[in-house]
Amino acid sequence: MTKNTLIQPFDVSIVGGGMVGAAIALSLSQAGLTVALIEQRAPQRFEPDSAPDLRVSSINLASEAWLTRLGAWSALAEMRLCPYQRLQAFEHPTSMVSFDALDIKRSHLGHIVENNLLQLALWQQFTRNVSVFCPASVTALSQHSDCAVLSLDSGEQLRSTLVIAADGANSHLRRLAGIGSNGWQYQQACLVALVNTPYPQQDVTWQQFTSSGPKAFLPLSGQQGSVVWYDDAAKIKQLAALSAKELTEQMLTAFPPKLGAVEVVSSSWFPLARMDANYYYAGRVVLAGDAAHAINPLAGQGVNLGFADAKLLSELVISAYKQQSDIGSAALLRTYQRKRKPANLLMMTTMDGFYHLFGSDIGPIRKLRQLALTMASRSSLLKTLVARYAVGYE
Ligand SMILES: Cc1cc2nc3c(=O)[nH]c(=O)nc-3n(C[C@H](O)[C@H](O)[C@H](O)COP(=O)(O)OP(=O)(O)OC[C@H]3O[C@@H](n4cnc5c(N)ncnc54)[C@H](O)[C@@H]3O)c2cc1C
Repeated sequence: MTKNTLIQPFDVSIVGGGMVGAAIALSLSQAGLTVALIEQRAPQRFEPDSAPDLRVSSINLASEAWLTRLGAWSALAEMRLCPYQRLQAFEHPTSMVSFDALDIKRSHLGHIVENNLLQLALWQQFTRNVSVFCPASVTALSQHSDCAVLSLDSGEQLRSTLVIAADGANSHLRRLAGIGSNGWQYQQACLVALVNTPYPQQDVTWQQFTSSGPKAFLPLSGQQGSVVWYDDAAKIKQLAALSAKELTEQMLTAFPPKLGAVEVVSSSWFPLARMDANYYYAGRVVLAGDAAHAINPLAGQGVNLGFADAKLLSELVISAYKQQSDIGSAALLRTYQRKRKPANLLMMTTMDGFYHLFGSDIGPIRKLRQLALTMASRSSLLKTLVARYAVGYE
């Protein structure tokens, strides 16, 4: 393709082809819109014998239902995923709150999926309505009354009626659009480790709350699992510098016995930040997923919120497209912002409440969290309400 050319117009350009951007591209293209997807790195190919991606996510039932309708879930299931039927939260085993899929009359509460595979499953469904620009990134944005133009590092220029920023928490496009954000870095960071476990296939994900931070286990398929260790950022950096053998020893000392005699295969650490974009749109640019909000991963909700953004935004755009009205109008984008921003803020604030309630060693707060866990473990109504919220149906 010749450089510095204004190529054919698209209905929508999406910057960032991660899980959220790819899902929007697929949804819009299936309704007949032409989509340009700009991404720096394509997802890696799936090899059945390859080690799982270190980055895994707990996907709730609401996200699964939408991804099934898009046709991506069956492709993912043919590769690798792990359903879980039970979810446990505890500080001491005596005050364990246990949620079971049977409590809400479901076969499972959610799945643990590898981020790379979910992204790949979405990319595999693209039809010719999606033009993928990869590897590519955006160097400039100009906004006009009826369109927005993106300049790519290849020299190409893309004109579209709507531009979607799905390029993650550190979104370059958000900055190009002049949208500020607020937030902070948490004192805690987390280490994520892929482990081999001595147990056969597990169906339970659990989280122990301690005053230095939560310790969690997420089952993967076969005898593997993902261990997430939250602690003070300095401590996490020290742990990340250890060999797999040394980290295994530390983990077996710090985690509750129910983890079993795991062996660390690989690990990585992540800083934890909260970010809330001041607005979800400016002109014809709209934000979705982590580009709009980054949340403490404590309860595994980040990409589920991103899929809720993606689903609503797709529905609004497809409806306008079918009525032959402007798919990038301020009225449409305002409706999206009005519905998604408060819902995302509520989840972020709830997670902050958990972070402070469960991460504190102050006497009265410790008593309060014991009380909260004991009450939750005894009330079946409360447990059902929490379970329905966690799976994304309330
Ligand atoms: C440790 C940890 C555990 C988590 N666990 C869970 C969980 O259990 N459940 C859950 O729901 N969420 C979880 N999350 C959150 C989840 O990972 C994010 O919410 C999710 O990845 C956001 O998806 P996204 O597509 O919006 O952004 P990203 O995953 O950040 O994808 C952005 C994409 O844009 C591309 N990109 C970036 N910049 C550019 C550019 N300039 N040009 C072109 N392309 C660009 C990137 O290559 C990437 O593909 C967790 C997060 C962490 C850190």
